[in-house]
Amino acid sequence: MSQVWNFSAGPAALPPPVLERAQRELLDWNGSGASVMEQSHRGKRFIAMAERVEADLRELLAIPADYAVLFLQGGATQHFAQIPMNLAGEGDSADYVVNGHWGAKAAGEAAPYVRVNVAASSQADNYLRLPPRESWQLDPRAAYVHYTPNETIHGVEYHDVPVVGDVPLVADMSSNILSEPLDVSRFGLIYAGAQKNIGPSGLVLMIVRRDLLERSSRPMARIFRYAEHAAAASMLNTPNTWGWYLAGLTFEWLKEQGGVAAMGERNRAKAEKLYAAIDGSGGYYRNPVDPAARSRMNVPFTLHDSALDADFLKESEAAGLMALKGHKALGGMRASLYNAVPLAAVDALVAFMGDFARRHG
Ligand code: PMP
Repeated sequence: MSQVWNFSAGPAALPPPVLERAQRELLDWNGSGASVMEQSHRGKRFIAMAERVEADLRELLAIPADYAVLFLQGGATQHFAQIPMNLAGEGDSADYVVNGHWGAKAAGEAAPYVRVNVAASSQADNYLRLPPRESWQLDPRAAYVHYTPNETIHGVEYHDVPVVGDVPLVADMSSNILSEPLDVSRFGLIYAGAQKNIGPSGLVLMIVRRDLLERSSRPMARIFRYAEHAAAASMLNTPNTWGWYLAGLTFEWLKEQGGVAAMGERNRAKAEKLYAAIDGSGGYYRNPVDPAARSRMNVPFTLHDSALDADFLKESEAAGLMALKGHKALGGMRASLYNAVPLAAVDALVAFMGDFARRHG
């Protein structure tokens, strides 16, 4: 098979060494004679693996001891609802910064469980600019402030962690976790669906300050309560063992690559190269986002004439460039440049874009 570069927004590319190792270990994991999927999560092999995976993540992100790490299910979307259940009491309000499609979804799913105060929104700008921190109307009595540091569809990213005082900052990092160094202590809770920078879908990673776990006194089933998941080391019920295992392989790979600092430099170089090609195309290609808000992870772009979109997609796919079709909210194209997408993929895309522009003048 010839080389294929995968620019999918998610589920997204995984590092080839991770997939190759999973393939090697599929029929006989860890000398057990069976795959990791076929074994009890309560067995000593799995428990030892789970502890190692958490230790690797703690090392990668320098997670302070007063934060719990949880391996959950339900996708980020379920936690849009579960976060207010756990972090807000009856009658509390929470501040939501709506800086894209996913932030809007998060606010919508939270609404049955907390009084949602939209502290800032860039909807009037079609989410193509970010509401600056100075414009956020924060309530010092809010249970928490929720925002989406990287919006996967609109391709906007906050490049600094906002200062929000003593109110816990909650971040949906589904599409930018582990893409650069992170000061975890600035956050109350970080969560991410795994299917972009971590592993397969069906796994949600959560990093949460332990004192926040005891916040909500409202009645709810144990399975919804994060404190119960933390007390049970994320094994309150059968976890996504396969996803947990693959996440562990990705963390090992990240450590071999030089960790999140090396990833951060690589991701910056990849994004700069693609934006430079778009900006240098004389208007043939355009990125619609405010340059100060451009995402390093998700790069939407349009062609100067949308009648060329179908040809661009057909030819790019034939050239081994996979999944460039943009989200319907913006149209055009989108290239997602997560950790597992190497600079060589960006080089191939940039070369194709130049060639396409010459041929389709
Ligand atoms: N938040 C962000 C930033 C996302 O990109 C996505 C999915 N692409 C979601 C939330 C929803 O994730 P899930 O489908 O895992 O619920």
